[in-house]
Amino acid sequence: MNQKERIEQYLHKLCKEIGPRPTGSNANRAAVEFACAEFEAGGLSVERQEFDCMNWQNHGGTLKVDGQSATIAPAPYSLPCSVQAELICIRSVKQLRKADLTSKIVVLYGELCQEPLMPKSFMFWNPEEHQEIIALLERGKPCAVITASLDSNELIPVIEDGDFEIPCAVVSKSSLSLLLSGETAELTLRTDRSATRAANVIATYGDGPQKVCFSAHIDTAPGTPGALDNASGVAVLLALAASLRGNDYPYRIEFVLFNGEDYYSNAGEMIYLRSSLATPDEYICAFNVDGVGLRGSNISYSFYECPATLEEAVINLGRQTPEFEQIDPWPQGDHTLFAVSGVPAIAITSSKIFELLKSILHTENDKIELLDIDKLERLVDFLQHSI
Ligand SMILES: [Zn+2]
Repeated sequence: MNQKERIEQYLHKLCKEIGPRPTGSNANRAAVEFACAEFEAGGLSVERQEFDCMNWQNHGGTLKVDGQSATIAPAPYSLPCSVQAELICIRSVKQLRKADLTSKIVVLYGELCQEPLMPKSFMFWNPEEHQEIIALLERGKPCAVITASLDSNELIPVIEDGDFEIPCAVVSKSSLSLLLSGETAELTLRTDRSATRAANVIATYGDGPQKVCFSAHIDTAPGTPGALDNASGVAVLLALAASLRGNDYPYRIEFVLFNGEDYYSNAGEMIYLRSSLATPDEYICAFNVDGVGLRGSNISYSFYECPATLEEAVINLGRQTPEFEQIDPWPQGDHTLFAVSGVPAIAITSSKIFELLKSILHTENDKIELLDIDKLERLVDFLQHSI
């Protein structure tokens, strides 16, 4: 099998055979086992770094306002519910501070639904305004919370938090007026939270006191085939690992498949941060690959805490590779874990991915057809030369 066929086979397995693979799901476990078997077949030694998490299942939901149906979806990780209660609609923090929410269904809109509220356990960035809104809701003891969608067309939630203990749904912008003029509502959310375990995969080639690390997240958001985000990155790393056999390097090469980039608490990332990244001196540098191979887009790299010599070497290699370019640093991704630990990091993605955040990523539209396999093959060569 040549490299291109290999990459195609990996993508097919992850996106089509396995499908959506959110952390904690059976499909996620199947993806992890598949990757472990591929690394082992390439002669690497494999460790599964296990941790506790939640398997969240979504079987939909319904909302009726004074007898009329509204378009809603359960917020990701929400508790289930079946409630009938008085509605209270709130548009500002000021109003929320004074409102009596007890046993009501709270509808948040206006200034309260302008951006996602950070999950309670998210420690890297969690503004006080967000924490106050969540605390006021919890203290108010409503029987459910409904938030207006962040997008005019899609149902985009404001709250996505497995530690938030009030049933929560998102309502379409077009159904919002029904709620604002309504008095009572009946909300049913058919979801399920169950405790389970998941694992990061750490595969090692060669030995030596220091290592070069290549990482990609293997989990997806719920309900997406996750081709670009991030079967592409996993396929590139598996192909790279398979190409190492017979080569000697003066350091070991570590492959990390993070399990939790799209999980509310980043559970896999946090366990890796506390274990492997507790000894940052072992790393020479880390490449994180996420969202690569988008058709019609360059592959891009950006630098975090990198010494000038490393930047120069990567830039030189990039110049020799068609359709590669340097972009400015961007914060949201697993490369940040390395950077905050003081490990020189290089993030690799697609230059145009930032345009797809709302319409494609985390939706059922993130399909293999978005990917250009030739680009992925070129990236494997690029990474091989980087080593
Ligand atoms: Zn991603």
